[in-house]
Amino acid sequence: MASIETDYLIIGAGASGLAFADTLLDELPDAHITIVDRHGKPGGHWNDAYSFVSLHQPSAFYGVNSLPLGANRKDAVGTNQGYYELASGPEVSGYFNTVMNQKLLPSGRVAYHPMSDWQSEAGPAPGGHITSILSGARTAVTVRRKVVNAAYVSPSVPSTHTPKFTVGEGVRLVPPNALVQLWQARGDRPTQFVIVGAGKTAMDVGVWLLGCGASADAIQWVMPRDSWLINRATTQPGMEFFKHNIGGQAEQMDALSKATSVQDLFLRLEAAQQMFRIYPDQTPTMFHYATMSQGEVAQLRQITRVIRMGHLRAIEPTQMVLAQGTVPVAHGTLFIDCTASAVEPRPMQPIFQGGQIVLQLVRAPLPTFSAALTAYVEAHYPDDAVKNNLCQTVPFPNGVEGYPASVAVSMANQFKWSQDKALRQWVRNSRLDGFGKLIAEVDPADTEKLAILARFKQCAMAAMGNMPRLMGAAARQPG
Ligand SMILES: Cc1cc2nc3c(=O)[nH]c(=O)nc-3n(C[C@H](O)[C@H](O)[C@H](O)COP(=O)(O)OP(=O)(O)OC[C@H]3O[C@@H](n4cnc5c(N)ncnc54)[C@H](O)[C@@H]3O)c2cc1C
Repeated sequence: MASIETDYLIIGAGASGLAFADTLLDELPDAHITIVDRHGKPGGHWNDAYSFVSLHQPSAFYGVNSLPLGANRKDAVGTNQGYYELASGPEVSGYFNTVMNQKLLPSGRVAYHPMSDWQSEAGPAPGGHITSILSGARTAVTVRRKVVNAAYVSPSVPSTHTPKFTVGEGVRLVPPNALVQLWQARGDRPTQFVIVGAGKTAMDVGVWLLGCGASADAIQWVMPRDSWLINRATTQPGMEFFKHNIGGQAEQMDALSKATSVQDLFLRLEAAQQMFRIYPDQTPTMFHYATMSQGEVAQLRQITRVIRMGHLRAIEPTQMVLAQGTVPVAHGTLFIDCTASAVEPRPMQPIFQGGQIVLQLVRAPLPTFSAALTAYVEAHYPDDAVKNNLCQTVPFPNGVEGYPASVAVSMANQFKWSQDKALRQWVRNSRLDGFGKLIAEVDPADTEKLAILARFKQCAMAAMGNMPRLMGAAARQPG
């Protein structure tokens, strides 16, 4: 068996692994990095995505720290009109290819093993072996410093997951990836579409179907839970959106400081135009930080045939079997599987664990900012206790009740970073941070913006004071 040595072995060449590698390369000039991934190209799950996928958030603060994504343009047409561009899936994949081929590999300090599986081996020092998926050849790896697990919170996507419901003989069930090929179906075009699932992928499919000419009457939507959605206006990185982004954060803090329960919190956020729900007569219980524009929400409201009967258990040729009953299936129905959970709940663990780093969020909901900041902390701080204190794992909410804790830990981390001069400076200069630079660039004579900032600070203090009460209320909420 061949053998190699490296300082850091990164499992996964997805967004998290590459964002970590990019910052580590800049911050630890003597480190050698080896990246292993089962996929044949960098970009992780973006390689398996449906072709009409895009980021939920502006490209401006996604990707790796050293290389901008997109051209910071605003969309002139469509449901994102007037807002900063959202990279499409192919753009994201192409971007990560560029990161690998123009930044990481030319450094001479990075080795990349695509189409390869990593297996850790127990022992006193971190290590394991790489197995080529194509040849089966194994390479033993001695890891001088750490193994970085950049796959622990990897999302599940429709084209590679296995649905949890059964599918009867002759039922047409496809992942969203197959929709763009329907033009080839000729005489066999679907008469009805059933979107199965209630997350961002399902919403993308609804918007795509309507945008491509499907009649809203021909669409049914199996929605076990309704979801709260972030208003994309609040995530715009430009100074001209100051009222929406920083002003929006002040609104969020104000709501967090006054809410008496989690439901009350979301209603306040909705009233302050921070959050949307698609169907105003429903009370959402899901919140995964999905982000949408007002235009997309308006489109989705055209779909009125929503099935709220719990999770789908089986699709039979003539009926759907749901947790709370059955629904007939019309002849010629195409089912679209949007049930993969992009945010599989996994037990949280410390990020720094001796010879291992397990990448998780240090600020929700930003995995690439989190990975880059973790690399900075790895490079500059002395031991795991200090590093874990700066990088407390932020829980990802599965439902509305998880939101206060997710915000509270993000805020606690942010506070600690702000107390450390070097880290504060790194965050401010990081393109992945989104808003820190904006705040730093406020003109001292701009009284309107200064007033927004002052309100944000005041509300943030009050919000921290109310967090224990809100988290207590969330814990008492039936699950
Ligand atoms: C449709 C969609 C849209 C999204 N939009 C946004 C957005 O706008 N903004 C945002 O911040 N986040 C967004 N996300 C969240 C998204 O999860 C992250 O942005 C990011 O792409 C996740 O990357 P990752 O590296 O953590 O995981 P992955 O992309 O899944 O990468 C992990 C990699 O590890 C590899 N791997 C795992 N185990 C092994 C092993 N043993 N050996 C070798 N290789 C292994 C896998 O092959 C995979 O390539 C979106 C997610 C989805 C699904």
